[in-house]
Amino acid sequence: MFERGVGKNDDYSFDSDSLSNLGLPESLLREDLDIPDLTEPEVVRHFTRLSQMNYGIDSGIYPLGSCTMKYNPKVSEELASLEDACCLHPDQPEETVQGALEIMYRLEKLLSEISGMDRVTFQPAAGAHGEFLAMLLVRAFHESNEEGEKRSEVIVPDSAHGTNPASAAMAGYKIVEVPSSDRGRIDLDALKSVISERTAALMLTNPNTLGLFEDNIEQIVEAVHGAGALLFYDGANLNGILGRSRPGDMGFDIVHFNLHKTFATPHGGGGPGAGPVGVKDKLIKFLPDPTITYDEEEDLYHLGESGKYSIEKVQAFHGNFGVLLKAYAYILLMGSSGLREASETAVLNANYIQSKLLEVDGYELKYDSRGPCKHETVFSVDRLKKRSNITARDISKSLLDYGVHAPTYYFPPIVSEALMIEPTETEPRVEIDRFLDAMKEIAKDTKENPEKLKSTPNNTSIGRLDEVKASRKPILSWKMYKEERD
Ligand SMILES: *Cc1c(COP(=O)(O)O)cnc(C)c1O
Repeated sequence: MFERGVGKNDDYSFDSDSLSNLGLPESLLREDLDIPDLTEPEVVRHFTRLSQMNYGIDSGIYPLGSCTMKYNPKVSEELASLEDACCLHPDQPEETVQGALEIMYRLEKLLSEISGMDRVTFQPAAGAHGEFLAMLLVRAFHESNEEGEKRSEVIVPDSAHGTNPASAAMAGYKIVEVPSSDRGRIDLDALKSVISERTAALMLTNPNTLGLFEDNIEQIVEAVHGAGALLFYDGANLNGILGRSRPGDMGFDIVHFNLHKTFATPHGGGGPGAGPVGVKDKLIKFLPDPTITYDEEEDLYHLGESGKYSIEKVQAFHGNFGVLLKAYAYILLMGSSGLREASETAVLNANYIQSKLLEVDGYELKYDSRGPCKHETVFSVDRLKKRSNITARDISKSLLDYGVHAPTYYFPPIVSEALMIEPTETEPRVEIDRFLDAMKEIAKDTKENPEKLKSTPNNTSIGRLDEVKASRKPILSWKMYKEERD
């Protein structure tokens, strides 16, 4: 350990004592710093090993359904880390951040065009945050029509992501759940039976979490609008229709985007993300501030003031600018034909997986899937569970031993023993085939060697975790690890 002697050494030799020459006040110097005493190679090896214990989209296929774990072009990262982009302060005077404002202004135009909306706010930091904002907009809209009290319910299909009912409940709404039909779409009659003058909004994901397009969308929109309520589009699955159809044209009033899903920003490590929200004309005046305006005469961009109806802010400043920049770069890189090609390839890849897995005994689709799925497909391993007590979790853990990431499992909750597979457009055929081969091998093992599957994974640095404990009481530092062990 370092020994410190203030003022003892004035010749700046490579002696640990020279630390004292940094000019730090004596009161800030410590004798008892409890950190491991290691050499540089030991430290480098430690962190290199840690990096290899991880699995990411840069390691291989990551077919986590609903999450759209596509490849993130490195050029976006480079742009977002340029000094001009990452050293801005959100309180800088407008005239010194014209470039950043222009990028946000242009990104707003692009996202409006992509979704068929009239304006977009960048305030929310994630999808769920965007949903919450959307529900505040719904409330502001009905209040402005003096229907705030009366419209107390938000309708959510039983296939929805858990954040939908949670966001509506946080905004003070009562949740009304509507079941899916045996075609895996919203049950139109059931929907009509719960729509009333109390309905504030319907929250819908399209394609839905089964990867199926709500082909009754026109009737759904008619029924909801007919009752004076609004339609919110959960944009997490936008990758399935990008460049081919637009929520705005379907009749939705509010849309959220997960820039960290559809528009290629890394995610999964807890952020940062961005969940911009787009709205139709009739909702613009309620948007949070600031929105960005352009003055043609002055050729200057401005941060707009909030009007009297604005719900003001849902987070500090203008949202996560770095993520906006990455999305902007990605959209320009792809162009409109590229975005369309991305969704088409994502859909093709998902259908390839669906048709290949249907040939494997043990994997089945629960809902009538006549016709193709969109960008993801949800299998059930119910039959395997009955036959050999092998669960979706066992299959997922076994996949890790093949060096591929697992799909989402046990979601959506309407499919028992669900495996939700979303390959995205960035996986080449050979990588998808590798995934399929692993799925086939595992299916074979469920018959020949089921015990083996129960103990997986065996080739990873960590075996099966206590998942509840890992999320409630995570061990995030060496100190916590030591305390836990002692
Ligand atoms: C990911 C997801 C969300 C929530 O988005 P976050 O950015 O994770 O908050 C909502 N709905 C669906 C269908 C999703 O897949």
